[in-house]
Amino acid sequence: MGDISAAGPMAGLPLLEDLPDVGGRSVLVRVDFNVPLSERPDGTLQVDDDFRIRAALPTLNWLAERGARITAATHLGRPKGKADPRYDVAPVRERLDELAPGIELAQNLRFDPGEEADDRTFVDRLVDGFDAYVNDAFGSSHRAHASIVGPPARLPSAAGRLLQREVEVLGGLLTHPARPFVAIVGGLKVADKIGVLQSLLDRVDRLLVGGAMAYTFLAAGGRQVGASPVDQAALEHCAALIARAGDRLVLPVDTVALAREGSFGRGEQGSGRLAAYSGDIPAGWEGGDIGPETVRRFLDVITGAATVFWNGPLGVFEDPRFASGSDAVAEALASSNAFSVVGGGDSAAALSRLGLSDKMGFVSTGGGASLELLEKGDLPGLDALRHAPNAPGRI
Ligand code: ADP
Ligand code: MG
Repeated sequence: MGDISAAGPMAGLPLLEDLPDVGGRSVLVRVDFNVPLSERPDGTLQVDDDFRIRAALPTLNWLAERGARITAATHLGRPKGKADPRYDVAPVRERLDELAPGIELAQNLRFDPGEEADDRTFVDRLVDGFDAYVNDAFGSSHRAHASIVGPPARLPSAAGRLLQREVEVLGGLLTHPARPFVAIVGGLKVADKIGVLQSLLDRVDRLLVGGAMAYTFLAAGGRQVGASPVDQAALEHCAALIARAGDRLVLPVDTVALAREGSFGRGEQGSGRLAAYSGDIPAGWEGGDIGPETVRRFLDVITGAATVFWNGPLGVFEDPRFASGSDAVAEALASSNAFSVVGGGDSAAALSRLGLSDKMGFVSTGGGASLELLEKGDLPGLDALRHAPNAPGRI
């Protein structure tokens, strides 16, 4: 992938307007309908949350209005390269047919091992009979899978409206964020996010870190963290980041912790004694949320921000005893004038639980994809589209 940092990831991306006339033509649309399913009383499956299906409607409607014959294709779950009735797309097809009648939905792409392997013959079969390809699967565009990177080399191709909007907003954070620009990063696995933290640090005015990953930073800074999880392999990276960041990095100064014999409630009721600690967390206690003084400091920074990016809950928000930090940040973003961008499945869930999703500037449909775009400035799926035969600057 070339250096596109100055122009941003939108540069050279073919859009729907760059497609040849689609009237009467067959168009393959890669969507991300990897949605949560639940069982009905009669044992059949139904779509639990159709956010991702509705998010593709502007693209599907644009094509339908112009007379295209549309086939959508998605992955669903992790069927590992073979047909598996648990991951059949039938329930998704049922919901799609209610929202956008007349659109076909192909069977789960991951039923074929060729999808994840980016196999050439699988791409051949995928594009067979189609006249054009549209990628509207932002949440999958960080993966070099067959349906993402294969078709643009064979067919006139375009970014769909959802993909376009995602890249405009997230790319805008890279190229021209209104300042002060603040990033808030929490969640579980520091190893998965260290790359994006390093890249964000060069772009933001303040980087606020909470969630379980904060304990590795606190340990790297010489703090005691009690029974909280620490990723030993990431300690050195965290120490280097702390040294480089100076006062741009804001770490928790207090913690709401759970006595070791207790349990976090994820789905079921949690148990055990709670205490708030400033500074060090004593032996036998595990951090579960940022403490009240940290919340005050975070809100102070958010109040002065013009742009905020938030990824990852600041505590075990599934357990109401440890949701205060995430709730306070969500409410502060909702009432602030800053342009707030939220990425990540669990962060989006924390927001929608509070009914605050509509109060954000933008909620990304892609967790991993949004982080990778912010880290690297590009995604394999975007790079493939830029090399399509009809891409601007190529014809
Ligand atoms: P996202 O999906 O928004 O990217 P992640 O998947 O990285 O977020 O992290 C979400 C998970 O992090 C949640 O299940 C939450 O319970 C967990 N988490 C956050 N803070 C803590 C903590 N202090 N201790 C343990 N788990 C935590
Ligand atoms: Mg998650």
